[in-house]
Amino acid sequence: MRKRIGFTTSLPVEVIFAAGHIPIDLNNLFLEHDSSALVHSAELKGFPATVCSWIKGNFSTALASNLDEVIGITQGDCSNAQSLLDMIGEEGLATFTFAFPPRRNYADLDREIRRLEEHFEVDRSQTMQAKERLDKIRAKLLILDEYTWKHRLVSGKENHLWLVSSSDFNGDPDRYEEELDAFLKEAEKREPLPAKLRCAFLGVPPIYRDLYDTIVELGSDVVYNEVQRQFAMPYLEADIVDQYLRFTYPYTVKERLEDIIPELQKRDVHLLISYIQSFCHLQIDNILLKKYLKQPFLTLEGDKPEPMDSRTLLRLESFFEVHS
Ligand code: SF4
Repeated sequence: MRKRIGFTTSLPVEVIFAAGHIPIDLNNLFLEHDSSALVHSAELKGFPATVCSWIKGNFSTALASNLDEVIGITQGDCSNAQSLLDMIGEEGLATFTFAFPPRRNYADLDREIRRLEEHFEVDRSQTMQAKERLDKIRAKLLILDEYTWKHRLVSGKENHLWLVSSSDFNGDPDRYEEELDAFLKEAEKREPLPAKLRCAFLGVPPIYRDLYDTIVELGSDVVYNEVQRQFAMPYLEADIVDQYLRFTYPYTVKERLEDIIPELQKRDVHLLISYIQSFCHLQIDNILLKKYLKQPFLTLEGDKPEPMDSRTLLRLESFFEVHS
């Protein structure tokens, strides 16, 4: 039976596709629906106001999405993931865990991927077949990314939307690829977007829906979406374990910086926006990002899935004014 498998952040989706199931990134689904109502519904179940909105959104989305199982990434993502999974299990949904090893180590990650394969009853050759299929699409996402920073045919917002949805390919890689082909064809015919202040977006995807449009209105645009690009697995490693070893998101700030610093240079980035989520442990990593990156740096904090508040807008306006 084809199952709908929810998950809480990027994991080796190749295994789920190889088993013939439909992977569903709960974060993407959460933002596509009435996100405020989903957060509220989790609070009614007892989730505290001082817990990150993504956690509450993922909880309610998991319950409302007709899923067969939820995989929680209990290491290498969120300090709240295990408690979230326990709450989901309490509601009667089947759960499973995936844990990125605390340090980048081939043998440990290989073992964890094999545990996932055993759970879904597939072998490594089937996983690799799924990877070959997905890598063809990922190669096209690399072109889309180049269209963003090099040729300026694709906006920072479009880049964000395509890359963030590559965590699960919207559950249907064939359809995703068809739509991506059509989008790239259309983008090729565009005039390059105006040269603007080139900025980078660092950190987890924003909960604000209007951030990218606002950045453009203020005379800048994003030419590097750090974590979204990581979700798109841009290195096209031949081996599945190597692919997820190079995925920087589950690891330390130092490992993220090894990706960020050369990309900022290559993309000629002038300004950095580092996004942090209220009540998220990654706010601590932001201290080190700020310390080790040399470009002008603005930290933006988001809480609820709402339009940007006036204070945040004012801070963005001032940042661009000062550095334009
Ligand atoms: S933003 Fe932070 S606290 Fe919220 S789900 Fe992501 S990692 Fe967890």
